[in-house]
Amino acid sequence: MKPTAGAPAPAAERLERPVTALRGVGAALAERLGKLGVSRIADLLFVLPLRYEDRTQVSPLGRLASGQRAAVEGEVLLTEVVYRGRRQLLCRIADGSGMLTLRFFYFSAAQQANLARGTRLRCFGEVRRGPAGLEMVHPEYRRVGSQAVPLEETLTPIYPLTEGVPQGRLRALVGEALRESERSALRDWIPPAAGLPAGLPSLTEALAYLHRPPREAQLAELAAGRHPAQRRLAFEELLAHHLSLKVRKRALKTDPAWRLADEAQLARRFLAALPFALTGAQQRALAEAERDLTAGVPMTRLVQGDVGCGKTVVAAAAAARAAGSGFQATLMAPTELLAEQHWRNLRDWFHPLGETVALVCGSQGARARRSALAAIAAGEVRIAVGTHALFQEGIEFARLALVIVDEQHRFGVQQRLRLTEKGQKDGRLPHQLIMTATPIPRTLAMTAYADLDISVIDELPPGRTPIHTVVIPEQRRAEVVLRIVEACRAGRQAYWVCPLIDESDELRVQAAEETAASLSAALPGVRVGLVHGRMPSAAKDAAMLAFKAGKIQLLVATTVIEVGVDVPNATLMVIENAERMGLAQLHQLRGRVGRGTEASTCVLLYRAPLAPLARERLRVIRQSSDGFEIARRDLALRGPGELLGTRQTGLAQLRVADLMRDADLLPQVQEAAEVLLASYPQNIAALAARWIGADERYGRVG
Ligand code: ADP
Ligand code: MG
Repeated sequence: MKPTAGAPAPAAERLERPVTALRGVGAALAERLGKLGVSRIADLLFVLPLRYEDRTQVSPLGRLASGQRAAVEGEVLLTEVVYRGRRQLLCRIADGSGMLTLRFFYFSAAQQANLARGTRLRCFGEVRRGPAGLEMVHPEYRRVGSQAVPLEETLTPIYPLTEGVPQGRLRALVGEALRESERSALRDWIPPAAGLPAGLPSLTEALAYLHRPPREAQLAELAAGRHPAQRRLAFEELLAHHLSLKVRKRALKTDPAWRLADEAQLARRFLAALPFALTGAQQRALAEAERDLTAGVPMTRLVQGDVGCGKTVVAAAAAARAAGSGFQATLMAPTELLAEQHWRNLRDWFHPLGETVALVCGSQGARARRSALAAIAAGEVRIAVGTHALFQEGIEFARLALVIVDEQHRFGVQQRLRLTEKGQKDGRLPHQLIMTATPIPRTLAMTAYADLDISVIDELPPGRTPIHTVVIPEQRRAEVVLRIVEACRAGRQAYWVCPLIDESDELRVQAAEETAASLSAALPGVRVGLVHGRMPSAAKDAAMLAFKAGKIQLLVATTVIEVGVDVPNATLMVIENAERMGLAQLHQLRGRVGRGTEASTCVLLYRAPLAPLARERLRVIRQSSDGFEIARRDLALRGPGELLGTRQTGLAQLRVADLMRDADLLPQVQEAAEVLLASYPQNIAALAARWIGADERYGRVG
């Protein structure tokens, strides 16, 4: 079993045949297999087991314990249909050491007849305690004759199922693919020159091992995804994804883009008019963006920085450069609330400089929207702020040169790509500036965002005082209400974030309304306002404006205020049912306070009893205010999938690899990618096809 890395072995084509070339696979089965991503025989090898079972030895019935998954053998003593609440088939077996009941809720008459007294059965299933001793519910079983039937020699793989493809059938098909691969080795698209990490098996060996692990294999190591065979595949999968992103970036960088020279010096004038100076980190990020904007190829830059580090001004300065060069820039925000806030900020900044800023969002009045769109299409407005409504069909920009996406973790890769296509004009792609507060470690970011250049703002504006976070049980709500009175009396403002009772908007809104009503009854001297996602835009706007202007002192809100909202005079935040929220969300929410020079407090109310994980999360958020640190702890608590979000990176659906667990492979993934790009470009499309499939997102690969 030697992998071939050079010229294609002719026999390898056997594996490239459609699955229908296998005996007994017709069109119907092929279609169902398609749902597992299988169309060619080789694809079967990449349907990897979810877990394994040890059926290599038979356990005596007398030694079974509840909770154990085991293979057993015994002779049927009795089979009967009984009614215990519902109709069921019970079959009692014995092996001399003990007895076991098999319980079936779904069964046929033929099945019943097959389980006659005296029949020998081999069963596999989970042992549990039943009403009359140990039992297995719906075990896998087969009849065995008087002679000893050989046991499995390897661990039994359990595959992900898709409707209409039974486990046994899939196992057999993978077995056939494995036999084919013994005759004609699978092509290994990673040439020796690309340097596989030391100690990893060949591709063929890795696959053979994972589909048929030997009896002595370490199940714990396999379950943790740390076996060298898994790492071999993880390396290849990460490489495939990384390469496809790099190829995409490379393709993009061959396109021409406008050079934004800012003849009008608008960016300089914008910065000079700000009431503060940029921090060093902001200056660095802006300088990097400006270098890209003047280079003549499309910028694709990600600005990463913790909540409150001041990404908006950096974006605005870039927009100023576009406008000052006679082009248009647009800033897209994930919520209307944030879009409106950005619009007001930009309007206030740019109005004195003679620039009009337009707002486009889904819920604004038809008339206002139509006139904004007309002005954008005519090129009368050079800076437009909005939600994704900005990129719906039918919206035309006259001279769009820069697309800024704020809080991009809320958008998908797809949306981002669509948006650049929209801006394509005269064969030129707009520049992209993407802003995110989701902190991920650098090597990880370089792989996950390989299609982007990355700037990091790792410094907060001066004069911020750290937020004091306290965790308090709900019973002490009254104390918390007193704190609001104190804050308001001191001329400060507060947020009250309502619980996530349900996924339904309706119920959230209702809860927010009730909370607002009860708080305003409890706080007679305090002006209470309310915002939630279902409010008409004008009402939401009015509430936010009133809060910003200090006319509302306590703002009761749903998590709509999670991203971006900026009111520096707000120094107290109360979050109800904090135990239900994830760390990233709590960190984002808390980032709404601590934006001024005054000390801020965040009160996390929880409902007892706390589950251990919830307790740990609250402890982390109380102890740390550093987004990177919180992200790291979050990863340790629950794994990377959720934190990174599956939508925001190009590495949406990893099958074997895990960005965090396999992070140590990343430097070598990056090196190998360079080798393939330089010397084996023809292998890249094949790798992408194997691991990513013909996903349209990767259309430009290869
Ligand atoms: P985020 O990075 O979370 O989007 P914002 O852009 O909303 O942060 O900025 C947070 C607050 O900090 C805003 O009120 C903004 O005006 C202010 N700010 C930004 N940069 C500076 C700076 N260099 N000095 C002082 N305040 C700043
Ligand atoms: Mg922001």
